[in-house]
Amino acid sequence: MRPLRKLLKHLRDWEKNTRPFKPEKARMLKKRWDALPDHVKTPFQMVGRNSTGCEGTQGVFPKCNFSCTPCYHSQNANSVRIDREHTLQAIEQQMQFLQSERGGHFNYAQLIGGEVTLLGPKTHAEALCIMQQHGRIPMSFTHGDFDYSYLQQLLAHSPTSLKHLSFAGHFDSTMRGRRGLNNPKSEVELKPFREKFCKLFQKLQRETGISYFLAHNMTITRKNLDQVPEVIQQCRHMGFRMMAFQPSAAIGNPKRWQDNLSDNMADMVWALIEQGAGRSLPFQLMQSGDVRCNRTVWGVFIGDSYFPLFETDSQTDIRACQSFREMGEHGMELYRPDMPWLSGIVFLRALLHRWEWFCSFAKWGGRFIHRVGFLKLLLNTIQPMTFVMHNFMDAETVSEAMHWNEKQAWSPAPKIRAAQERLKACIYSMAHPESKQLVPACVQHGLLDFEINEKLRRIF
Ligand code: SF4
Repeated sequence: MRPLRKLLKHLRDWEKNTRPFKPEKARMLKKRWDALPDHVKTPFQMVGRNSTGCEGTQGVFPKCNFSCTPCYHSQNANSVRIDREHTLQAIEQQMQFLQSERGGHFNYAQLIGGEVTLLGPKTHAEALCIMQQHGRIPMSFTHGDFDYSYLQQLLAHSPTSLKHLSFAGHFDSTMRGRRGLNNPKSEVELKPFREKFCKLFQKLQRETGISYFLAHNMTITRKNLDQVPEVIQQCRHMGFRMMAFQPSAAIGNPKRWQDNLSDNMADMVWALIEQGAGRSLPFQLMQSGDVRCNRTVWGVFIGDSYFPLFETDSQTDIRACQSFREMGEHGMELYRPDMPWLSGIVFLRALLHRWEWFCSFAKWGGRFIHRVGFLKLLLNTIQPMTFVMHNFMDAETVSEAMHWNEKQAWSPAPKIRAAQERLKACIYSMAHPESKQLVPACVQHGLLDFEINEKLRRIF
């Protein structure tokens, strides 16, 4: 009798773990949707349907040992000593607040502020565990200048066993201070450093079995603008799963503002990303907040050709996207980076919930195979790759826009009005539990970081 009871319990647990829809998540998504301004409530909006947005830590470890131009950290960031107790306590409070505001269902949160590896492996691991305990999928932001032993120590010191690591490595020629390449003159010089970064995680996976997700971050200035396509071609088979580009803005440390792009260059940067990908990238089908802030395209490299998952010129793709958003509205909890097979089962169970959803994805699958070609699919490795552009605003623009937002009025200046709209639709927030506010990252870096760091500097 006992083995039968055990088997039934396993089946019940399995059924529960792969249940596709979580009512609490659906409630949080609805709350998020209701709070979005009308101009982003488009049929293609993902926020409030599939995601509540992106989150980041603030004021928890401002220090960095690089000196990049530009730098989004405030001028006084490096005068703040790193203090383990403060870091962990502040992360705990911020995550608690995020959980209460945005729910605790595998939300993406960036462990960010300064250089994460300066925390040391033990504090870094503790921070990741706190974030996970609050239902976050943490992503550690780093310049990537560390050795294999750092990752080994990170796993060894973790209070609970880490099954997945997610890192965003910042690599570009605006950075100063990398060991072996203090002052790069071009992007191509960074190739071995990007490769080394990916290889550290490949080795870790071979030796420990841990899974990982790597993003490549690049700041775009007038100096490295024309090298964007080359960087993409260089990195597409290295092991990065995401390539994120940030056109530089006058934000953070004013002493390091050089060669910044002007506000209206986002289209030009996107065109260069498309050139690197070797084709157009239809970002309109899956929008994250305001497209003046964010553009995202999910897809795969098959051989050297890039295939976005969805294309704007196909009704089949548009219908599949629509089904995906509807599944999200029902509270579909899909993202389990440590157990991708579980995500697959959850997705399948969600599809079976409605015949229209199943049909739209079956047709989409058929079209995707046709687009790529069966033989090409069979003979090549498939490398998932997401392209992202995040377009921060200048601190001065943000300051004026906030002034008008506080007055609850629209500025007569089109540029400021646009900034007001973007801030209201912001999808990248930082938690301020003391004032019970979620603050756009543009406001955080442009207006708040300096004051917060001054306070921390006096305490430590
Ligand atoms: S942080 Fe700034 S650029 Fe990013 S989504 Fe928010 S308002 Fe837009």
